Amino acid sequence: METPQWWERARRVMPGGVNSPVRAFRAVGGTPVFAARGEGPYVWDVSGRRYVDLVQSWGALILGHAHPAVVEAVQRAAASGTSFGMPTTAEVELAELIASALPSVEMVRLVNSGTEAVMSAVRLSRAATGRRYVVKFEGCYHGHSDAMLVKAGSGAALYSAGGGAAPTWAGATSVSPASPGVSPGAAGETLLARYNHLEDVEALFSRWGQEIAAVIVEPVAANMGVVLPKPGFLEGLRAITRRNGSLLIFDEVITGFRVGWSGAQGRFGVQPDLTCLGKIMGGGLPAGAYAGRRELMELVAPQGPVYQAGTLSGNPIAVAAGLATLRELQREEGIYECLEARARRLADGLRQAAKEAGACVSVVQVGAMLGLSFRAQAPQDFTEAQEGDAGAYARFFHAMLERGVHLAPAMLEAIFLSTAHDERVTGEVTEAARAAFAAAA
Ligand code: PLP
Repeated sequence: METPQWWERARRVMPGGVNSPVRAFRAVGGTPVFAARGEGPYVWDVSGRRYVDLVQSWGALILGHAHPAVVEAVQRAAASGTSFGMPTTAEVELAELIASALPSVEMVRLVNSGTEAVMSAVRLSRAATGRRYVVKFEGCYHGHSDAMLVKAGSGAALYSAGGGAAPTWAGATSVSPASPGVSPGAAGETLLARYNHLEDVEALFSRWGQEIAAVIVEPVAANMGVVLPKPGFLEGLRAITRRNGSLLIFDEVITGFRVGWSGAQGRFGVQPDLTCLGKIMGGGLPAGAYAGRRELMELVAPQGPVYQAGTLSGNPIAVAAGLATLRELQREEGIYECLEARARRLADGLRQAAKEAGACVSVVQVGAMLGLSFRAQAPQDFTEAQEGDAGAYARFFHAMLERGVHLAPAMLEAIFLSTAHDERVTGEVTEAARAAFAAAA
């Protein structure tokens, strides 16, 4: 059966035909590609067509599709039982590995997704400080828990009422939720600031400082395209939160194990109080974690009073996939330097291709991640990110797809590379981009 028939069946039985909004092609038009299988840097659709995959399960894969070590670990784990609801030794090993990699982490709680990790870390921050407000940044996406669906990036900026509206920053507490069904109470305890604008954070703290439990941030924003933290931004957040007795939460669901072995916190040398993880640490299976200093994590039940639980948390198959992935990354000397060098060369190639085609494009690169924005300057906040030319992105997207390159079907997303994207593969991408930029211009 070909894609159009599958798409028709999908739309009949699943909202929008998908199980996560960004997978639909609403923002770029057309019919989604149905994945049949993947191997290394490639995916094949149901009609057997091959694409270079620059989505890599939205950054969850860093070894490419179906890496032999991950497949073997998953098969072995599955054969021994799919779930126990009892402690396993592999959970201990994964938690130890995460704690050894991330400078700020002493203890880890495994959960099933990034959403859960953030939701739980926010609860813990409120419990630890006895305060109610959480500061989040416009355009950062922290999963779909109620409190975080406020001016969120990624799919929430496109597919939820109010999510894509012009920013309204005025130091306001009365922000409106980005989705019907989110209670005004939950959204009202989220304070908004603009990414890279420390003055917004200072203003919020000068007004509500004693009531702010935490500041949560993507240390590199990767859900409004890719927006780098300005020099001093993360350090400033660390200083302000420390001065005011609030916690700093790094949402490293994307950056963890992607921008380096020690995450963004290692790369930028700023230590948060709590860290949220997902994606790569689950090796392509559903997993997440929140983690941090011992005295904070010891507040979590059953050691402490902060309740959080999960039937499938620390699932043996997900843990096996995560462990195999992290061990592979740890084993290969110079793997992050290699990823960085390839990503940098791809960024240079894309810049050159855009220039030759006369397309107005900025390319940002950090670790194995790139951001492409159809505007002259790399965006520094959500307002600027949204000023990118979405029409040009849609044309570029389809021109790339026609040439066998699979990008995220929306402008505010990142390009993810894996260790399987070697020079030959990135060369294919640059070659396709040469023609696709011309089509988009
Ligand atoms: N935090 C960040 C930075 C993310 O990018 C995402 C998802 O893309 C999440 C949290 C939510 O993770 P999940 O989709 O696993 O719930």
